[in-house]
Amino acid sequence: MNKTITTSAIPPLTSAAATIRLLNVDVDNIRLDALLERLHRSGGFVITPNVDHLMKLQHSRAFHDVYRRADIRICDSQILMFVSRFLGTPIVEKISGSDLFPAFYRRFAHDAATTIFLLGAAEGVAVRAQARINAAVGRSMVIGAHSPSFGFETNEDECEAIVARINASGATVLAVGLGAPKQELWIAKYRHRLPHVRVFLPIGATIDFEAGVVARAPAAVSRVGLEWAWRLACEPRRLWKRYLGDGLPFMRLVLQQRLRRYASPWETA
Ligand code: UDP
Repeated sequence: MNKTITTSAIPPLTSAAATIRLLNVDVDNIRLDALLERLHRSGGFVITPNVDHLMKLQHSRAFHDVYRRADIRICDSQILMFVSRFLGTPIVEKISGSDLFPAFYRRFAHDAATTIFLLGAAEGVAVRAQARINAAVGRSMVIGAHSPSFGFETNEDECEAIVARINASGATVLAVGLGAPKQELWIAKYRHRLPHVRVFLPIGATIDFEAGVVARAPAAVSRVGLEWAWRLACEPRRLWKRYLGDGLPFMRLVLQQRLRRYASPWETA
């Protein structure tokens, strides 16, 4: 049975609670191996909370609703790992979307029933990622790839065509890289129209990483909680507001939670 930790009952540091409360999200306290096993067994819609998401969740009720409807929420960020410790409820493992995706396709490389459709990134990039992944696993595991036009999500005809294409592919895994919250909202809206898909993975810039068009931060940089700084240095114009604008307001909210004064703008069940 799931046990949720709230600030009103801070457990000892050795706690292995099933979920950890960070602001208005219950993060699943799960290791990568167990997550892969669970996805293989039951499938699901995985969501990857990080500081950017948590700030968006203070302002967007729609995003918050999607969060509640997802099946698994994993800790995408080393900063959230630090925060979970600061709150006295440590998370056991960071599993960023960009680590989960390659771990997933490597683990199921020889499972013919696992086939992937990639949706997202700039024109030509998803197809390039497809070729590289298939070469790495030695089979046609990624059976479809499509980079939609900018703003496609507001074009119902284009979305319908994409749904038809994913269904025609027969893919059992849909990995969507459109940035948050677009990718999560798209999955939540269309997942029930995709009967073959068992696993839904919103993976942000991972398609760019897999295609080799954007360099991922070295593991050591990520481990010390500085992946955000690496990404900021790579794409300052697009990311400055996300990383510099959100930092202080986020720390203020964390402090409020530590002092038991944080209240979600949306009711929390
Ligand atoms: N992207 C896209 N369509 C859009 C907006 C973004 O395909 O309408 C892609 C973009 O090309 C990049 C990814 O979404 O590949 C950006 O992901 P972001 O860096 O926001 O995600 P993160 O990894 O930080 O979650």
